Amino acid sequence: MQFADLVAEYERLEATSKRLEMRAILVDLLRKVDPNQLPPLVYLMQGELRPEFEGVELGVADSLAARAVALATHAPEKAVTESLRRTGDLGTTAEELAPKRAARLEGEPLRVDEVYSGLTRIATSTGEGSQELKIRILVELLARATPGEAKYIVRFVLGKLRLGVREMTIVDALSFAFADGSKEARAAVEAAYNRSSDLGLVAEKVARQGLKGLRQIGIEVGRPIRPMLAERSPDLADVLKRMEGRAALEYKYDGLRVQAHIPASGPVKLFSRRLEQISAQFPELIAALPSSIRRRPAIVEGECVPVDPETDELRPFQEVSRRRGRKYDLERLQEEVPVRLFLFDVLLEGTTTTVDEPFPERRRCLEGLVKDTERVRLATQRVVTSLSEAERFFEEAIAAGCEGVMAKSLADGSTYRAGARGFWWIKYKREYTHALADSIDGVVVGAFYGHGRRGGRYGALLLAVYNPDEDRFESFCKVGSGFDDATLEALPHKLKPYEVKERPESIVTELVPDVWFRPAVVLEVRGAELTLSPIHPAGKGLVRPDAGLALRFPRFTGRWRDDKDAETATTTAELLSLYRSQVRQISKPSGGEGAP
Ligand code: AMP
Repeated sequence: MQFADLVAEYERLEATSKRLEMRAILVDLLRKVDPNQLPPLVYLMQGELRPEFEGVELGVADSLAARAVALATHAPEKAVTESLRRTGDLGTTAEELAPKRAARLEGEPLRVDEVYSGLTRIATSTGEGSQELKIRILVELLARATPGEAKYIVRFVLGKLRLGVREMTIVDALSFAFADGSKEARAAVEAAYNRSSDLGLVAEKVARQGLKGLRQIGIEVGRPIRPMLAERSPDLADVLKRMEGRAALEYKYDGLRVQAHIPASGPVKLFSRRLEQISAQFPELIAALPSSIRRRPAIVEGECVPVDPETDELRPFQEVSRRRGRKYDLERLQEEVPVRLFLFDVLLEGTTTTVDEPFPERRRCLEGLVKDTERVRLATQRVVTSLSEAERFFEEAIAAGCEGVMAKSLADGSTYRAGARGFWWIKYKREYTHALADSIDGVVVGAFYGHGRRGGRYGALLLAVYNPDEDRFESFCKVGSGFDDATLEALPHKLKPYEVKERPESIVTELVPDVWFRPAVVLEVRGAELTLSPIHPAGKGLVRPDAGLALRFPRFTGRWRDDKDAETATTTAELLSLYRSQVRQISKPSGGEGAP
């Protein structure tokens, strides 16, 4: 196919925003080309050279492309800059300047496959001298291009080809071009795409073998499956009703979704929810997965969450986002923001594709597959059959640092629905609108030895509030964040005078620290919110018979309250009133904010 013909279609596509018109243009185009030319065509249409998950990038900066335009059009660089200032689009500038050339290099008009292979060569040239090579290839292409062709080549190279063709429009068009366009045909094309994330592959298969060819597109290690998505619900009673009174509730971890592909041999690959490869950003997961997964190959899915290495507690999501997209300092970040992957699904195990199994089967398989390690764990789950059980589990999830629960249907139809959002999974989150307004002065009642970087020192302190009615100290959090190195270093010395061999009678807690202290030292902490807790006894029974209050995401503010003694620290009553004032601020529990 001539590139000029494709460009003519690009122009028609750009000129319309109507889906049906777009589809008609695409159907014409798809039918015109040879099946083996379809994958490149489909990728080009999406502004890509390969399916997105392969992460092929052209690596051409704006300045480099501008130089190529100048060289190819024989225009002075100044003319390019001036035109660019006016047009705001280097593609249009290339188009404008192209006709001014004395004569186009002789030679045949560009074919689509030539443009595609030229662009591929640009993408694959890396390392020393690659910038010059990229320019040379681009100049060669542009020198042979008509003005209209040059416009699209430049836009493509800069990642600015915006034809407005969405992937589902291509799916639709494929079902019309190579099948009867019925609902079933579209569903079959879409399902093949959801399984493979590769529209080029789907296009070629359906063009060659029709709908039955699509069935051959299965799940493969190394090729991400489009993730199953959840609906939301405003309350737990509704969740249970939709699931006919019985559901598996899981912690809804707040982190990054990760699909891990573990081949029989060779490196593990990690994909994000948007199917980008994120393997390089989490080397510790790559290293840990093979020993955490008992049988290979396997494809598993989970949430990657930052954990506090000292307290083993979950940390806020924002910390893990620091690890995204990073190329440098990976080692330091690995230590600063350690992560753990909580696995919640399995899509392939050995030679068995598990996506078509109902969820209870998949969970059973996952439980047999995952060996809990420091870096990889199974997501916490409980099957509930009543509202009170569901509420209890929800509170546990919040207390554990999660953002809510994910309810999963146990029905026969609860297969893994790649790429689909439905009520087979329902998320129920608690939104809080305000961070805890006030700080809390906690009494140090215990310490835990640190590990990793903090080995040999205290890694976290156990804090309590004072309950004057009972004259005792009730624990409400374990704090490991907010201490700088010097403070950490000095902690054992500072606390030494208060060290005691056994737990003093006046201290109430379910936790057993490495070192106990007589209540004396007070420090200031802040946190995200107060939550009901099955672990901490502060104010137990005041809100609910079997739950106390705990501070979520506690952090030392750096302020020692030397002006306070243990009895003048924050009291249980104050903690309760903080909890209550916060409850008034919390918007009613809701299923969540905008689109995921
Ligand atoms: P949202 O991003 O709010 O739509 O919630 C859906 C996301 O929750 C999923 O894409 C996962 O990244 C995440 N998630 C956390 N825990 C779980 C879990 N146990 N099961 C499924 N998804 C989970």
